[in-house]
Amino acid sequence: MGLAVAPPTGKTLVLVAAITLAAIAATYGFAPHGRAVAVATLALAGVAIVAAWLGSSFRADRRYATLLENEVATQTRSLMDSLSATATAERHLRLLMDAVPDAIVVLDRDGRAVDLNEPAKRLAARGPNPGTDGGIFAFLDADAAATMRERLAAAFSGDVQQFETPYRREDGSKGITAVLYAPVREGAQVTRVLALARDITDQKRTEQQLQQAEKLTAMGQLVSGVAHEINNPAAIISGFAQTLLLDELKTEHREVLQTIYDEASRIGRITANLLAFARAGGTRRTLVDVNDIVRRTFALRSYHLSTLNIAVTLDLTPLEPKIWADPSELQQVLLNLLINAEQALLSMETSRTIVVRTRATEDEVRLEVADSGPGIAPEIRGKIFDPFFTTKPEGVGTGLGLSICYGVAREHGGRIWVDSQPGQGATFYVSLSRDPRREGRAESEAPLAAPTATEGITVLIVDDETALRDALLRFLARRGIQGEGVTDGAAALRALRQRQFDVIISDVRMPGMSGREFLERLRSDRPELVARLLFSTGDRHAPDTAALIEQSGAPTVTKPFDFAELERVVRQVAAAAGRPPRASA
Ligand code: ADP
Repeated sequence: MGLAVAPPTGKTLVLVAAITLAAIAATYGFAPHGRAVAVATLALAGVAIVAAWLGSSFRADRRYATLLENEVATQTRSLMDSLSATATAERHLRLLMDAVPDAIVVLDRDGRAVDLNEPAKRLAARGPNPGTDGGIFAFLDADAAATMRERLAAAFSGDVQQFETPYRREDGSKGITAVLYAPVREGAQVTRVLALARDITDQKRTEQQLQQAEKLTAMGQLVSGVAHEINNPAAIISGFAQTLLLDELKTEHREVLQTIYDEASRIGRITANLLAFARAGGTRRTLVDVNDIVRRTFALRSYHLSTLNIAVTLDLTPLEPKIWADPSELQQVLLNLLINAEQALLSMETSRTIVVRTRATEDEVRLEVADSGPGIAPEIRGKIFDPFFTTKPEGVGTGLGLSICYGVAREHGGRIWVDSQPGQGATFYVSLSRDPRREGRAESEAPLAAPTATEGITVLIVDDETALRDALLRFLARRGIQGEGVTDGAAALRALRQRQFDVIISDVRMPGMSGREFLERLRSDRPELVARLLFSTGDRHAPDTAALIEQSGAPTVTKPFDFAELERVVRQVAAAAGRPPRASA
């Protein structure tokens, strides 16, 4: 900024004053006469100069003031503008920070929150000392707080930190949060750290369940193969033992044989459980009220539970928790969970409680079994659904209970998981889908007519296991039933052209012509024999086998056979079908 007139200096003022004084002196007689006019003129000139100077100076001041005023006004306006822009930016930043569901905190070196958004405030308010300056670590467990401090120090030395840490969630349950620490630099210095924290508890749970599902699917395939392999030898041992038991025996021999038979049957039960775990789908479904299942299963155990001093509460939803399911499998799930809870509670001196809860929404029915037992240690929680994983002594645990529950839940399009803290009991959740598209299917077997005259029955046995055919033929022969054995469907068709049989017992899975193909050939070539067909299988719930049994409506016996039961079914089929027709050429 420039000014048109410079302000008067001290010298100028002295000069002007001297001229003025000289003029005054001359006017009042201090000067010699004659020079008076000249002096007066000088004086007038001085006055004129002073007046002119004063006038110009006054105008210059006015212009200066105006310019100054304008300048101040401009500066003030620009200051106000930038203040308002800053306020707007800050408001936007705050709105953005508060809109983020994750906790955002700006931390100083001591872990104190310099700034925090609303979710972070809610988090901090849940700490043991809300409102105090215990820092952002106040609401964390001691271990987690130590980790957070270490990570903060690393962030202040300039490294971005990403880690996960446990914390307590809003509902009081334990959760996991993913934390990011980003150093905030001012020049070369890290003056603050920006912390972002996100609750990843549900995500972690889903990941774990997926891993678990993949692991168990792989295990299921392996287990199913092994179970099939073991089942046939078990059926053979059981068959021969049952045949020999028909003889007159010394007591001692009878006991040994009975033990062989019992143990072979036990192998059969174990393989059936393994197959239940491994198979996926194909069971017989009906519309089941889960509350009914709970009441019935509880009735089975209630006496036993009361003798153990265990108090059971049934908290059942009034919302009709109906689903398409296999009722016996659901019952098995609940039974397994109840037995586990019971066994867990035995280690507790007091407070032995179990709560069985059902909950229903439009999409799912949930079954919960919560106990006040010792809980499950985190290091084994990932293994408890594995087949054969057990922490129980031999004879008490087989490690199959939960893997069966897992198989059944998965087979019903549902899932099972556990929530447990050591020392605080365990809660198992089974969530089952309420898929209304599933067609309900009849639960009962095709009814068999009562046996009539069944003397001189003949049986054709179709099975690729020679020893099993042999065991079966021997047993039946002892019971007055004659038979013949062949290895597959093609051989059976040939035999049927040669001879007539009252009953055909066919395995489902065989090398060569399978049970399904054999049935199809019977339907097309010898339809009159279809009613004489009886299937035998080691895994009646395998999807393809279950479908075949369902479609054919043929009676089915499961390996290892209970020979007495097998004989009963053979006689029923023979009686229902009547005398066989003449064999065709
Ligand atoms: P098993 O009961 O034969 O051991 P499971 O598959 O049913 O086999 O259970 C596997 C393991 O899971 C048990 O050995 C036990 O360690 C643990 N477990 C199951 N249920 C509970 C429970 N309610 N409380 C504590 N631990 C449990």
